[in-house]
Amino acid sequence: MNTVDIIVPCYNEEEGLSVFYQETQKILDGIPNYQFTYLFVNDGSRDETLRVMKTLASEHANVKYLSFSRNFGKEAAMYAGLTYSVGDLVIIMDADLQHPPAMIPDMLKGIEEGYDCCAARRSSREGEGKIRSAFSNLFYKLSNRMTDVRMAQGAVDFRIMTRQVVDSILKLSEVERFSKGIFAWVGFNTKWYPYENIERAIGTTKWSFWGLFKYAISGITSFSIAPLRLVTGMGCIISLFAFLYIVATLIKTMITGIDVPGYVTLLCAVLFLGGIIELSVGILGEYIAHIYMEAKDRPIFIVKETNLDRKNP
Ligand code: UDP
Ligand code: MG
Repeated sequence: MNTVDIIVPCYNEEEGLSVFYQETQKILDGIPNYQFTYLFVNDGSRDETLRVMKTLASEHANVKYLSFSRNFGKEAAMYAGLTYSVGDLVIIMDADLQHPPAMIPDMLKGIEEGYDCCAARRSSREGEGKIRSAFSNLFYKLSNRMTDVRMAQGAVDFRIMTRQVVDSILKLSEVERFSKGIFAWVGFNTKWYPYENIERAIGTTKWSFWGLFKYAISGITSFSIAPLRLVTGMGCIISLFAFLYIVATLIKTMITGIDVPGYVTLLCAVLFLGGIIELSVGILGEYIAHIYMEAKDRPIFIVKETNLDRKNP
């Protein structure tokens, strides 16, 4: 019998967690030949999420939990789940039922067909603001143009993976984790399952617009050095123009003599170059920030308590 671990990152999900368990269990009860274990990761929730997890664990033998010492973010929670997982297959899904458990049987069939990975992708962005979807589209266009990894548009963190894929993901132990890129980077055959976006029924989304923006920038700079090349390119083009302008000005001065006015030209040039330099320093800074974070080599998460037998992964 194949064992399957279901990793569920949870941050302030006290209202929905029992419903999530019931709804998911209803589906799992109809799947023979697999043995499922839930691995709830409490990502430093400020509400009673951990208590709900403990209650579930006392009622059901297939419920395990890990609880962080503080909020480390969803990426850290998913990584922790993967680190502690031992199943032949691993499922990652959200706790808010936006990832329909009813898709699990189909996704398992995909694995039986021989795929290494079966992942869900939103076919529509309904229930999401216009500005947010516009920025999201822009992000996919930019990142797919700039990076070697092809990130599937609308891909969500709802997937089933074989042990081999999980082990490969765990080899990428970077501190600043961008899972969408990491999943694409490790490769393997992925089967995509489109589904209609469902609005969150219980609780609220944990993502702010600013949070998503920072996540997108970090995603691009984690997987691509194209922005650095852009700086080099800008430098080359501006130097070329500057050189031509200097030659032209010299010739003009030699022919017509020095004319004093030129205040506007000077001001424009200074401001323009100032802007470009600030932008370039900013781009360099993004990469230095990555180096800084990785060089510190801090743990990605800290577990405070768990009911797992294995206290260390
Ligand atoms: N989550 C988490 N840590 C965080 C933020 C979110 O573990 O710091 C979990 C959250 O509990 C949920 C999943 O990540 O299970 C997705 O979060 P959310 O529904 O807020 O994001 P969205 O569906 O809007 O992308
Ligand atoms: Mg959600």
